[in-house]
Amino acid sequence: MAAMVSIIGGGVIGLASAYALVRAGYEVTVIDARDSLGSETSFANGGQLSYRYVAPLADAGVPLQAIGWLLRGDSPLKLRPRLDPQQWRWMAAFIGACRGSVNARNAAHLLRLASLSQNTLQQWRVDDRLDGFDWRRNGKLVTFRNADTFARARSKVVDVLQQQVLSTLDCARLEPALAHAAQGFVGGIYTPNEEVADCHAFCQRLAQRLEASGRCTFVLGRKVTGLRHADGVVTAVELGDEVKPVTQLVLAAGHRSAELGLPGLSLPLYPLKGYSLSVPIGPRHHAPNVSITDYDRKIVYARIGEQLRVAAMVDIVGFDAGLEPKRLALMKRQSIETFPTAGDYANGVEWAGMRPATPTGVPLIGASVYRNVWLNLGHGALGFTLACGSGQLLAELIGQHTPSIDMQGLTPRAA
Ligand SMILES: Cc1cc2nc3c(=O)[nH]c(=O)nc-3n(C[C@H](O)[C@H](O)[C@H](O)COP(=O)(O)OP(=O)(O)OC[C@H]3O[C@@H](n4cnc5c(N)ncnc54)[C@H](O)[C@@H]3O)c2cc1C
Repeated sequence: MAAMVSIIGGGVIGLASAYALVRAGYEVTVIDARDSLGSETSFANGGQLSYRYVAPLADAGVPLQAIGWLLRGDSPLKLRPRLDPQQWRWMAAFIGACRGSVNARNAAHLLRLASLSQNTLQQWRVDDRLDGFDWRRNGKLVTFRNADTFARARSKVVDVLQQQVLSTLDCARLEPALAHAAQGFVGGIYTPNEEVADCHAFCQRLAQRLEASGRCTFVLGRKVTGLRHADGVVTAVELGDEVKPVTQLVLAAGHRSAELGLPGLSLPLYPLKGYSLSVPIGPRHHAPNVSITDYDRKIVYARIGEQLRVAAMVDIVGFDAGLEPKRLALMKRQSIETFPTAGDYANGVEWAGMRPATPTGVPLIGASVYRNVWLNLGHGALGFTLACGSGQLLAELIGQHTPSIDMQGLTPRAA
């Protein structure tokens, strides 16, 4: 009989884990509090599969820059200090991770994982003919408004085959939809191999394939309210009054993973709230084909099928997932400034999501202090990008195989 794995969380991370595990021969159960899979943070994110632009948010100069941002009305960052030790602990650890050397180390871990992710998705697309989620290799252009940030970014380009430094004029030539706004930019860095897709559609396609495999069961609309444990092993999950025994258990509950409350399992997670706007593109609109990151405003633009997905903002405001009209209005105004004819902004659909962030920006993948509990969480701003590689690694670790990449920096330590 195949080994059984239960996964808490049916977002892109839980589903990619389930997919990799089923491919490796496991029987899987995915439990999610929501009625529909991929409908929390994986629902309307930026859609960018950003395999080479993975620098963690925690970087040298960010704490100082953040103070400047917080004083501005049009800041991409918002902080609402709370009487919450989890928030303060997270921010202290974040500041610790901002040293240049720590950032460089963490970026290297993310790059390794991102590269595995790109290869894994390629394998699933080609070998399994996984499709139907608006995947494209459309390239990504990071544009800069500020000469200093552009100079810093240029100095970090090491592989000129993968990343090209472009002048303002070249940026507008590469992406004609930028012509209107190009004067506001001092240049850009173009990475031709980056990809884009619809994360929610990807989740739905994975779920369909899992269902069709006959080796995956979904338990939807059921919140895990408690975990029963004895002698360093979790024996069952509690779904309200129902108790469901487990053999191997994966925690992939996104920013809510820490709430599962296992004694001795400390998860350094905090939600970083962000917003998106999905703007319909009609025949008369001029939307960008290349994914664009407006670096200094921290806004990303991606054409996903017949819509322009605009995503932005990092709000450290606790677990409040509500839409904030002021933040959405700022994002919309800046989008219209940059791409005035890209789509039907009046009919754009607004959304807010909570990035499940570790202070370092590096996820936790692997074993925990509980012998049968595995972690796959904390993917922050890069969960879609890193999902397939993270799922693949998790399946290898549970199966006690040598992982495809060096796990240094990715393995949970204190957990
Ligand atoms: C504005 C924005 C833009 C982004 N843009 C990008 C991008 O362009 N590229 C990229 O790679 N990433 C992007 N991200 C990040 C990405 O969306 C996340 O990293 C990713 O969705 C996290 O996936 P997850 O599966 O860990 O969490 P989720 O998708 O939140 O899934 C967790 C699931 O666990 C379930 N759950 C939680 N608690 C329980 C419980 N107790 N019992 C049962 N179920 C439970 C939830 O219902 C949920 O379905 C963006 C995020 C935001 C907010």
